[in-house]
Amino acid sequence: MTTETPEIVWGIDGARLVIKLGDITKEAVDAIVNAANQTLLGGGGVDGAIHRAAGPQLLEACRALPEVRPGVRCPTGEARITPGFNLPARFVIHTVGPVYRDPARSAPLLAAAYRSSLELAVEHGLKSIAFPAISCGAYRYPLDQAAEIALRTVIDFLRERDQLEEVRFVLFTPATYRAWERALRKLQGEAGKGTLAPGSTGT
Ligand code: ADP
Repeated sequence: MTTETPEIVWGIDGARLVIKLGDITKEAVDAIVNAANQTLLGGGGVDGAIHRAAGPQLLEACRALPEVRPGVRCPTGEARITPGFNLPARFVIHTVGPVYRDPARSAPLLAAAYRSSLELAVEHGLKSIAFPAISCGAYRYPLDQAAEIALRTVIDFLRERDQLEEVRFVLFTPATYRAWERALRKLQGEAGKGTLAPGSTGT
């Protein structure tokens, strides 16, 4: 973390929303979310990093999940959970974001990927969850659009449900971090409620 990318903390109805630059495989939370593909059998980007850090048992656990149709263990917008094995996180929630096409088709699927992951965390009684920028790598979702969808979905969820204590966005590149920061400022301006938590370096 540098002075240009401080951790941003926003309090929402008793929960903490955190935005930070970092490597999600290092996060000691109840669950980290994997931006996977429909096979759940590993890939590049954050998926590859999570499988390397978790160890080979993660691939075995994914393989053991039932296919809903040939080659598909998790349709786009849905989520599945496995243990975290060698990760500091207890669980991995695997979700599949859309390959970006256009806002009308892609936005509902990206929101569904975030929402399904949050629902699964709550179903398992988890309190803290960390997300990467789903669909923002190989799936080419424009960063500013993805950031706004991600934040709106998480903020709406935290306002509706009170089980989660902390949701973190752990963003791997400064450009991604800045997109999330811009989107948060925009939503804070619209909301006019919720307050920056004490100690936040955000302004
Ligand atoms: P997708 O196929 O959903 O686009 P990618 O893994 O290609 O998934 O990219 C999703 C995001 O994950 C990108 O913003 C990429 O920079 C980021 N990323 C890659 N490695 C890590 C990591 N170790 N921790 C957090 N984010 C990561």
